[in-house]
Amino acid sequence: MSAPAKRIELKLTGEQQKFLTEVKQISGQNANLCYQCKKCTAGCPVARTGAMDLTPTQVIHAIRLGQIDLVLNSHTIWVCASCETCTTRCPQGVDIAKVIDAARNYAKAIGRVDAEKSIDIFFNAFMKSIERNGRLYELGLALGIKMKTLEFTKDMELGREMFFKGKLKIFPHKTKNIKEIKEMLKKVRELESK
Ligand code: SF4
Ligand code: SF4
Repeated sequence: MSAPAKRIELKLTGEQQKFLTEVKQISGQNANLCYQCKKCTAGCPVARTGAMDLTPTQVIHAIRLGQIDLVLNSHTIWVCASCETCTTRCPQGVDIAKVIDAARNYAKAIGRVDAEKSIDIFFNAFMKSIERNGRLYELGLALGIKMKTLEFTKDMELGREMFFKGKLKIFPHKTKNIKEIKEMLKKVRELESK
């Protein structure tokens, strides 16, 4: 007979506990309902561009564990376009977009926003989008504007309206000459490093 499973108690620091509590309060969501099915990640258009360093599933998991540094230092909370695709796919009814939004607001509230770093993230996200898809796509553009202005909720209503009218393409379309574009970007990087 196998030994009974041992209950593991996670010891969180005061800062981690505060983060956990505040994100829960701001978002009104219980991230503990997540069972890591990864449906949110599979549907996320920004994760597809390669601009996220943590997947939406990983962000939820890290939040559950109170991993404040991992979450607030991630690019993901800044490049998330608040499109809510993840939210609509979650079988557990977790509003992931709201949870990520809450983490972003928490970062702003405690002054963990570095404008220079944000612009770097924005630039890298766009370079990655071009490299992978051969072009920028509309959702990427909306994301870029959000990154530049750091006004994350201002254009949400407009974005949603455009999306439902079919004017905002949620998935990027690849161009045929992607190989040439990758070669070109490689050359640019080589020249930059000289
Ligand atoms: S809200 Fe953010 S995390 Fe969710 S699918 Fe959209 S871009 Fe991805
Ligand atoms: S879709 Fe919901 S349950 Fe599945 S990994 Fe994402 S947050 Fe967790």
